Amino acid sequence: MNAGLLVDLPQLSEAGAEGIGLFRTELQFMIASTMPKGEEQEAFYRNVIKQAAGRPVTFRTLDIGSDKVVPYFQAIKEENPALGWRAIRLALDRPGLLRTQMRALLKAAGGTELKIMIPMVTEVQELRAVRVLLQKEVQHLSKFGHLLPRKLQFGAMLEVPSLLWQLDELMAETDFVSVGSNDLFQFAMAVDRGNARVSDRFDILERPFLRILRDIVRAGQRNNTPVTLCGEMAGKPLSAMALLGLGFRSISMSPAAIGPVKAMLLGLDASALERMMTDALDEKAPKVPMRELLKRFAEEHNIPL
Ligand code: PEP
Ligand code: MG
Repeated sequence: MNAGLLVDLPQLSEAGAEGIGLFRTELQFMIASTMPKGEEQEAFYRNVIKQAAGRPVTFRTLDIGSDKVVPYFQAIKEENPALGWRAIRLALDRPGLLRTQMRALLKAAGGTELKIMIPMVTEVQELRAVRVLLQKEVQHLSKFGHLLPRKLQFGAMLEVPSLLWQLDELMAETDFVSVGSNDLFQFAMAVDRGNARVSDRFDILERPFLRILRDIVRAGQRNNTPVTLCGEMAGKPLSAMALLGLGFRSISMSPAAIGPVKAMLLGLDASALERMMTDALDEKAPKVPMRELLKRFAEEHNIPL
């Protein structure tokens, strides 16, 4: 499931999730009146890990800026904030913030597994720069005798289309990749996700976006890199079904969506769906919209949506 606050944690067992595929760490910063100190962050992450009780948690480093406003962080007027100074861009310019957070995460996960994920990556080079900072924190903690995570996994969110032409380099630099379909769709289609006049104008289930996702899955298979998806499309049974047909085997969503998505999953013949989708996506002159084909498939196979 996706989460970001302690109140979300009890839902892990209630919803039947296998873990947290996206923990949005900026939410804790957004509800605070002052910047949470390193020790506060550490205590918070420790609590999250404890409550997850052995289930994996993927912590996304701060994704602030654009739609994620942190009140005490000096807002800079930007013409296009979604394309502006945010997430990893801000983190690399203010490395103290990122280093404090990574140190808190490393300490909180001492003796257990830690998955760290970097948002809004545009160039693989940015990941290398973050990894250098992470390595420095690991060295610092081990020098002072701190217990380090038993296993550390380093991943990237795929939200910026430029990464689609760096997939092999990206996967060589990461232990896992998670598709942020909310932002990837917004940037691929040039539609503001927060603007109701245009946000529903193009169908996320239409061929262009599904072909993008298929390329990502294939790159994951080619590179032996786990690929998951944590945007809103994973939480709707029909689009979750399409993701399975494309080859995704790990997706995360809001807790309330897990029940309906599981009901869909239990009735699904994924290989039949994959065949149907491969043919439909390879069609040279398609006539029937993908959404229609997917709905028909679900109807014919009695899949609850
Ligand atoms: C996404 O972009 O799909 C995503 C999961 O991140 P957020 O919605 O927090 O931007
Ligand atoms: Mg995003």
